Amino acid sequence: MKVTDYFEKSESTLVSFEVLPPLKGGSMDAIFKTLDPLMEFKPPFVDVTYHREEFIYKKKDSGYYEKTSIRKRPGTVGICAAIMHRYGVDAVPHLICGGFTKDDTENVLIDLAFLNINNVLALRGDARKFDGKFVSQPGGHAFALDLVKQITDMNNGAYLDQNIQNGNKTEFCIGVAGYPEKHFESPNMDMDLHFTKLKVDAGADYIVTQMFFDNQFYFDYVKRCREAGITVPIVPGLKPLTKRYQLNSLPRLFYTQMPSDLVNAVNAAKDDQAVKQVGIDWCTAQSKELKEFGVPCLHYYTMGDSKIIQKIVEGVY
Ligand code: FAD
Repeated sequence: MKVTDYFEKSESTLVSFEVLPPLKGGSMDAIFKTLDPLMEFKPPFVDVTYHREEFIYKKKDSGYYEKTSIRKRPGTVGICAAIMHRYGVDAVPHLICGGFTKDDTENVLIDLAFLNINNVLALRGDARKFDGKFVSQPGGHAFALDLVKQITDMNNGAYLDQNIQNGNKTEFCIGVAGYPEKHFESPNMDMDLHFTKLKVDAGADYIVTQMFFDNQFYFDYVKRCREAGITVPIVPGLKPLTKRYQLNSLPRLFYTQMPSDLVNAVNAAKDDQAVKQVGIDWCTAQSKELKEFGVPCLHYYTMGDSKIIQKIVEGVY
């Protein structure tokens, strides 16, 4: 079923989760270990992230370094199929522009449609560490907007090869990313919302937000989206802070601000366990307020730690 159909059919706030593929060499058991305890909350869908290849420098016998490309976390499509098979819930693969030509994208979408995976989250993707800024694949898309357009074309039966007449019309429900604190590359929120609206006009059915720790950012974001004519559901993405160093690393990695009350509580916590509890309490309070506000779904970034997410969801429902 489509993600947006779940939203339409449910009278209360749903719960969903995002998982990361295990590092190459790992097994599906890691994913099942994360998800098994969370299934009691009956998530209608589970997202699986996608990770572009990274460059690493390997030292050779000669002493010189060789630039090598590796995919650290492959397997998104296979994991989605395994999740659907094991739990009977929908899986939402993240699909990125980085590392894909348009042909690669079309072929992945065909695989997904054949597997009856009819939901995707369409993203540009992060920059590779050594690139500094996002570099698109030659023959690929530079923005999520163009990826959304390609998926919409396939939903209309149009494939890259224009000789294909009356192609199978795929039925993808398309999610896209939104940023309550603005995407870091955008000059301002107006510009960011302009491009977000273009993604929706091009066929995106819903938005999932970047994590935030102050709900006011989400409330303001929803208001501004509605004023800008963006009417699709906006799902808040939530991640609990679990370690002291995240006070600095989360703002650096995700361009999110930490409210003073949260920072003070973490600084006052006497040990790692106390920090974890602060993070759980904070995320539980955030979730309760968002549920009260009537959000369609609370979407948790599990980062492989189901125990913490379990405690939070138990505290909310
Ligand atoms: P876009 O919508 O393309 O926007 C990127 C920037 O370009 C923005 O500043 C936007 O305002 C601007 N822009 C957009 N369109 C245009 C245009 N036509 N012309 C000029 N400027 C434009 N990354 C991964 O690698 N894998 C994942 O699995 C993953 N999952 C994510 C899940 C969620 C819910 C979120 C919020 C992010 C996720 N990311 C993931 C990170 C994401 O790839 C990065 O935030 C990336 O920097 C931007 O992606 P986007 O889809 O928002 O890009």
